[in-house]
Amino acid sequence: MDKDLKTKTPDELRELAGSCGQKPFAGDYLFSFIHQKDARSIADVTPLSKAFRETLTRQGYFISRLSISQQHDDPDGTIKFVFELGEKSCIESVLLKDEGRQTLCLSTQAGCRMRCRICATGQLRFERDLTPAEIVDQVYCAAQAAGRIDNVVYMGMGEPLDNFANAMRSIELLHCESGRNIGIRHITVSTCGLPDGIRQLAVHPLLPRLAVSLHAPTDAARKKIMPSAAKHSLHDILAALKFYQQQTGKRFTIEYCMIAGLNDTAEQARLLVNLLKPFKVNVNLIELNPYPGCPFSASSPEQMRQFANILNHANIETVIRFRRGRSIKAACGQLGATRLPK
Ligand code: SF4
Repeated sequence: MDKDLKTKTPDELRELAGSCGQKPFAGDYLFSFIHQKDARSIADVTPLSKAFRETLTRQGYFISRLSISQQHDDPDGTIKFVFELGEKSCIESVLLKDEGRQTLCLSTQAGCRMRCRICATGQLRFERDLTPAEIVDQVYCAAQAAGRIDNVVYMGMGEPLDNFANAMRSIELLHCESGRNIGIRHITVSTCGLPDGIRQLAVHPLLPRLAVSLHAPTDAARKKIMPSAAKHSLHDILAALKFYQQQTGKRFTIEYCMIAGLNDTAEQARLLVNLLKPFKVNVNLIELNPYPGCPFSASSPEQMRQFANILNHANIETVIRFRRGRSIKAACGQLGATRLPK
C-alpha cells in the first residue's frame, strides 16, 4: 500500500482517519494541510492530535516532497525548474507567463517510452513513471517560487496517457476544492496519440482539456517523426477522437510541429483539413525547436503562415506558436536536452 499521504484523495484520508479511530474531518485536515498549505511532514498538520500524528508515523505514513534543484530564467519571462529524483534522474517543468496568467507545463514520467524524433526527452532513457505526488508537487514548488499557477498543461517530459492512473489521480488532487482548486477546464492533457488512452479519458469522470500531437496528415510522414505511429495509425487515432467527441461533446486541440520539407506543404495542409473536417477542433502550429542531434529543421515562418491560411480558410481555427524559453532549453521539445550528448 502506498504510504505517501500526498497521493491520497480526501475520501481515502477520511477512511484512514476512521481506521485509526478518528473522526472523518481529521482526514480533511490532512488533505487541506498537504495540498493547500504545503505541509512537509505529518508533524506540521497541527490541528490533529499528537497521538494520531504519532500513530500515522509509526505505521510508516509520510508526506513526500520534491524540491527544485535548479531554476533557469529566460529573458522572455519563461522559467524552467529542474527537480532531482534521487536516482540520478531528473525531471523538468516550465512556467509560461501570458497576460498576467501563469501556466505550468509539467512532466509525468522521467524519460519517455514514445521516442518522438522531434523531442529531446524522447532521446533519453525511460526511467520510470512519476507518482501522483511527484506530479502535483511540480505545481506546488513552482507556485512557491513564482506565485499562483492558473493553468496546468501535461505536456512536459513523458506521455501522460502512458501513466494514465497516476496522471488522472494527480488531476483529481489538483482539482479538489479543498486543495488547489484548479478548474478542470484549466488543465490540459496532451498525448502523442494513444487511442486506448483517449477512449479511457473520454469516459473518465474528470474531463480535462485534450491536446493531440498529430504532426502529419499521413501515416508515412508520421512514422518518420514519431515511432508510435507504427503502432497507432491515424485511422485508429481519429476513430478514438470521434468516440471522445461523441462521449464528451468537447472540442480538442491538434498540435502540429512544423518540419521543413517533411510535413509543411500546401498539399499536406489540405490533407489535414480533410482529416479534421468532421471534428470541433483547433490547431496549434508549433515552430520546431531542434535539440542537439535533432535530424530535422524548422519550417520557415512564411511556410507556417501559408499552412495556417489553408486551415483557417477551411474554418479550422489555427494559431502559430512561436518559440518560448528557447535560451534555457525550455521550449516545446527541448526538455531534457541538457542531458543529451553535445
Ligand atoms: S513529445 Fe511527448 S510523447 Fe513524444 S517523446 Fe517527447 S515527451 Fe514523449
